Amino acid sequence: MSETRSHPSELRFRSALGAIPAYIPGKPPKRVDGRPSYKVSSNENPYPPLPGVLRAAMRAVESMNRYPDLTSTALLEALSARLDVPVNRLAVGAGSAAVLYNLLQATCETGDEVIYAWRSFEAYPIAVALTGATAIEVALTADGRHDLDAMAAAVSTKTKVILICTPNNPTGEVVRGDDLQAFLRAVPVGVLVVIDEAYREFVREPRAVDGIDLHREHPNVVVLRTFSKAYGLAGLRVGMAIGSELVMAAIRKCAVPFGLSDIAQQAAIASLAAEADLLQRVEGIVGERSRMVNALRELGWEVRDSQANFLWLELCEDTHAFAMAAEAAGLIVRSFPGEGARVTIGEPETNSLFLDVVRQWNVHKRSPIG
Ligand SMILES: *Cc1c(COP(=O)(O)O)cnc(C)c1O
Repeated sequence: MSETRSHPSELRFRSALGAIPAYIPGKPPKRVDGRPSYKVSSNENPYPPLPGVLRAAMRAVESMNRYPDLTSTALLEALSARLDVPVNRLAVGAGSAAVLYNLLQATCETGDEVIYAWRSFEAYPIAVALTGATAIEVALTADGRHDLDAMAAAVSTKTKVILICTPNNPTGEVVRGDDLQAFLRAVPVGVLVVIDEAYREFVREPRAVDGIDLHREHPNVVVLRTFSKAYGLAGLRVGMAIGSELVMAAIRKCAVPFGLSDIAQQAAIASLAAEADLLQRVEGIVGERSRMVNALRELGWEVRDSQANFLWLELCEDTHAFAMAAEAAGLIVRSFPGEGARVTIGEPETNSLFLDVVRQWNVHKRSPIG
């Protein structure tokens, strides 16, 4: 009965919702001709949980009839010890995406402006639009970096927040520490500068910014980090913010109560305990990243170094055809038609399969990029 009694015209939503683009998730892997296929479109960690992490999560599963610790006390204490940051300068949530949403909800409303580089993380336009604020997108430089001068010049009296993604998703480029220091001197202290370091553990460039160092001197700096990528907990949703006490308190006010399950909290604590093993896996991925970049260059492809667990292939108008060729071989890459494709560094076999796709492409399809 209810199907025939809907009154869509009487349902009112916030006007901000009209401006929200849909988040396009990485495609699920599909079997091609019965062969296995691999999802290298979401920058996930390819390795399954370590036994200790799995055991901690399983123990927590047994008490799923109970609410989790609302304040995530044990996790905050473990993070505090690990990062050398007091607990009141930390906030956790269901992924760093949730923490970012909370932060924007705490700071922005209609009439405000949020500046970020573009192209960058696809969640930004959505998260900003949801608050009713206006997104000011500043084009990346031709080599895929943040144009910090242009971003500083875009600041107005309406600017509330600036988002800096380093390494940038999808280009893999980092912002340098000295450049960000200069940027912070140029930006009013009343503007929050959010440094999204989702891929920090994969960075090997010594001049790259370290947000946690920077936040100690700058009360308007907030750092976002996550357990989703290097620590392999994408499916459990644990992320964090590091920043001034005042900002962290504002984030907490906006958080959905009990948003971080006990399973997630326990797995994150166990991951910190197992950090040495997890970072060894990260080292393996960083090694594979070099192997992929070198191999692609040998194949005549112009590819930039990446400081994250993915590579950006600036295929321009060939992007869609290349993504289709990869899919036919069982690899789901992230395609931004007309711009480029992002491919996650996976296990060695997956990466080798990707290089085979590129070899085939060189032979049968088009001439190499560049
Ligand atoms: C993957 C990613 C995140 C992490 O999101 P979670 O919600 O923590 O899983 C944040 N920022 C960027 C740029 C990312 O690519």
